[in-house]
Amino acid sequence: MRRKLIAGNWKMNGLRAGGAALAGGLAEKCRAEALTCDFLVCPPAHLLIPVSEAIAGSGIALGGQDCHTGASGAHTGDLSAEMLADVGCSFVILGHSERRADHGEGSDLVQAKALAAARAGLKAIVCVGETADERKAGRALEVIETQIRQSLPEGAGAELVVAYEPVWAIGTGLTATPADVAEVHAQIRQLLVELCGAGVGDAIRILYGGSVKPANAAELMAVDNVDGALVGGASLKLEDFWAIGSSCP
Ligand code: PEP
Repeated sequence: MRRKLIAGNWKMNGLRAGGAALAGGLAEKCRAEALTCDFLVCPPAHLLIPVSEAIAGSGIALGGQDCHTGASGAHTGDLSAEMLADVGCSFVILGHSERRADHGEGSDLVQAKALAAARAGLKAIVCVGETADERKAGRALEVIETQIRQSLPEGAGAELVVAYEPVWAIGTGLTATPADVAEVHAQIRQLLVELCGAGVGDAIRILYGGSVKPANAAELMAVDNVDGALVGGASLKLEDFWAIGSSCP
């Protein structure tokens, strides 16, 4: 039985006061109610420490949005997986389509970062997904399979997380249909079993991401092999993020 993971990707949003208040509000709700899912928040780097303080003892996990492949060194502007772990992170998002597009990150680099995450004891959330043109051309499944084969680190364990995020659905208000999500997640599951063996391949959580909101969360979270959500915009609104978590069966 895979427990659902509801992960909030705050992206480059939030200043200290608002970030701590948002995380604190979620922590208060989590402390007051028995949770049916795991919550994770991934704020921008300057908020990692205030958010870690706000969620202390709430059961909410903390994650980074990216990491470097090295542990330390001359890499201006970068953070290592070890640094994320040092401020209390247990997860890191890797290969988000915005990093693939804005920073030219390819799957080989994502794989090296996933190895760095494992080295530091972090759980990597490896993001994959097709563009609108690739889906229109009937290439979605092929693109996703190639990204997974090239991005997953050798020896990946059950703590790894894969996020299927169709690029055309991120931040657009468009969502993949439950039938499309079911098809892609089934194929990812099959591939994970092939690459990691049945035990690990069956245990890895596969998240869906792309305009998840309270209005569509219950339907998406009920799809086979959907083990949670990677949430962007709606994770910045306390009530919406909480409602998404509460919609987990
Ligand atoms: C994301 O950034 O991973 C994402 C899914 O964003 P949104 O929920 O805003 O589409």
